[in-house]
Formats: sequence, C-alpha cells, structure tokens
Amino acid sequence: MMLSRCVSSFLCRIKSAPVPLCCRMQYSQHLQGDTPAPFRPETSMAKTMMDIGTRRIFSEEHDLFRQNVRRFFKEEVVPYHAEWEKAGEVSREVWEKAGLQGLLGIYTPAEHGGVGGDLLSAAIVWEEQMYCNCSGPGFSLHSEIVMPYISHYGSQAQIERFLPQMAAGKCIGAIAMSEPGAGSDLQGVKTYARRDGTDWILNGNKVFITNGWMSDLVIVVAVTNREAKSAAHGLSLFLVESGTKGFAKGRKLDKIGLKAQDTAELFFEDVRLPADAILGETNKGFYYLMNELPQKVLHLCRARLTMSLIT
Ligand SMILES: Cc1cc2nc3c(=O)[nH]c(=O)nc-3n(C[C@H](O)[C@H](O)[C@H](O)COP(=O)(O)OP(=O)(O)OC[C@H]3O[C@@H](n4cnc5c(N)ncnc54)[C@H](O)[C@@H]3O)c2cc1C
Repeated sequence: MMLSRCVSSFLCRIKSAPVPLCCRMQYSQHLQGDTPAPFRPETSMAKTMMDIGTRRIFSEEHDLFRQNVRRFFKEEVVPYHAEWEKAGEVSREVWEKAGLQGLLGIYTPAEHGGVGGDLLSAAIVWEEQMYCNCSGPGFSLHSEIVMPYISHYGSQAQIERFLPQMAAGKCIGAIAMSEPGAGSDLQGVKTYARRDGTDWILNGNKVFITNGWMSDLVIVVAVTNREAKSAAHGLSLFLVESGTKGFAKGRKLDKIGLKAQDTAELFFEDVRLPADAILGETNKGFYYLMNELPQKVLHLCRARLTMSLIT
C-alpha cells in the first residue's frame, strides 16, 4: 500500500509517465492475485549487482521505480557532476527536479507533505545515486535524516510550513550537531540558546554540516539548560532558517572526497528565535537525537557500502 503510493506518486509527478497505465495495472493485478511472485535472485547470483529484478526484499513495483530513478540520475546528475565538483556544490535546479520527480521525502507520510512511500523505495534512491558514483546531491540526508525530525517532532504548523517545500526541493534541509569540540559525543555541544522573554537567543558554531552552504532550513542542536543533571537533559533542537539575522555560513570545506557536497561551517551570533522555532519539547533534544540517529547511521553505512561495492 505504502509502496504503491510511492510509485503512483512518482508516476503522477513526472511530466511524461515512462510506463503506460496498462503496465501499471498489470503490476497491481499481479500483486493482488494468487500468482506467486517471480523468483528474484540475490545479488551474488546476479550477473551484476546493478541488475534490476534482484533481491527478495524488493518487488516488481520497486523495480519499476528503480528504472525511473536510474534514468533520473543518468540524465540529471551524471552529466553535471564534474562541474559541481569544481563548484563544491550541486545546482538548486537538480533539487527541484528531484522534488518534481518524487525523489525527496519518500519516507515522509503523504499527509505531512511527503511521498508516503516505504524505506526500501528511499533506499533505491540512495543506491542508484551511489551506483552512478555521484555523491554530490545531499538528497538522502535531507529526506531520510532531516525531514523525519520535523515529521516526528514538529508542530502541525512546522510540518505544514516546511515539509511540502522540502519534498518539492525548494527548501534544502541540514542538521547541525557537530562542533569543533563535539563529534561522536553530542553531550559536548557548546552552542547555547538562552531565553529572552518568550524568544531564544542562539550563539555558537557548527562544523562539517552536510548541505550547510545551500541549506534553507537547519536543525540546530543547542544547550538550553546548563543546570541539567547531565548534558543529555539540557539539549534542544531549533529550526533556523537561512537569512535569519545573525546566522552566517562559513566557507565550504575542502575534503578528500565528496567534492560536490557543500559541507560547511555555520555560525550563530545572537540569533533571535521565536518560541515556535523549537522542534518538539524544550530540553528533549538529546532523546530525539537518540531516536533518530540509528537511522542516520544505517543510511550512512548503506550508502558507503553501496559505493564501496561499485568502486
Ligand atoms: C563529510 C562529512 C559530513 C558530515 N555531515 C555532518 C552533518 O550534516 N551534521 C553534523 O552534525 N555533523 C556532520 N559531520 C560530522 C560527523 O558527524 C562527525 O565527524 C562525527 O560525529 C565524528 O566526530 P569527530 O569528527 O569529532 O570525531 P571524534 O568524536 O573525535 O571521534 C574520533 C574517533 O574516535 C572514536 N571515539 C570517540 N569517542 C570515543 C569513545 N568514547 N570511545 C571509543 N571511541 C571513541 C570515534 O568513533 C572516531 O573513530 C560530518 C562529517 C563529515 C566528514
């Protein structure tokens, strides 16, 4: 059901549907009928690991989706990637094209403005991006890491304001946890937000932020209670929009790889944020991070594994 929504959303969004309607109906009939699903070889039995129609975890609908995703990367990403590597960032246009084709926010529920597909469909996008060896577009961090925070902990107003724009590729998302003194151990975060009436005043800096340079919306991890019994009980998440006074983007960082990714430093100097910039509850940020980070780690491992297998 979730997957059908993903495929049909994808097919609706693209301007010229590459697969005729009758073909889609055959897939649905097959899925509803008694016919056993066709045999799907595992990767080790396939001619190449990029063969479509392999692995039991995927279905024929996934195959159809994969064909379209593969074509998207071949036509809209591969020809431009060398240019993006020189620029240290991808184009805004490719984000909007990906949004138009239903490749962003696949795992975000449709009622929240996402595609409402399954995690395997999202994984297809990561895999196909890695198969073409184009690490530039930070789609998966945006879709599978940033959007879920808003979907899971955001208020209705935050969901309505940001998620449809993010799914459309018009609002690029980032998450700013790491700092010069806080990497693996997020309890070392020093970025601090103090109350000023109902507002918050945010100060601090972040490093290594994926999509940082192009970001329109950043989830910022900050200390909000310095007196908490441990640092984990005093962190909150803030939604900070690009262009907010006091929020500056530093340089795009030079890296040995991921050249087209706009990994950046971010600076916050007396950034005034309204009360509704908090994501979820005050001082619950660390709990949210602990809930969401396993997915991030899974995603990173999966992407790196796919890339290492083809290079
Ligand atoms: C390309 C790139 C993109 C990134 N994107 C983002 C992003 O979008 N947002 C963001 O917030 N951050 C991002 N980061 C930062 C990344 O999350 C951190 O680099 C990571 O958390 C590790 O932190 P660190 O580099 O400070 O290493 P450290 O925390 O200093 O760790 C160094 C090594 O020591 C090990 N180690 C640390 N503590 C212990 C311990 N107690 N016991 C045993 N071993 C330990 C670690 O496993 C690691 O191998 C990015 C980094 C890179 C390189």
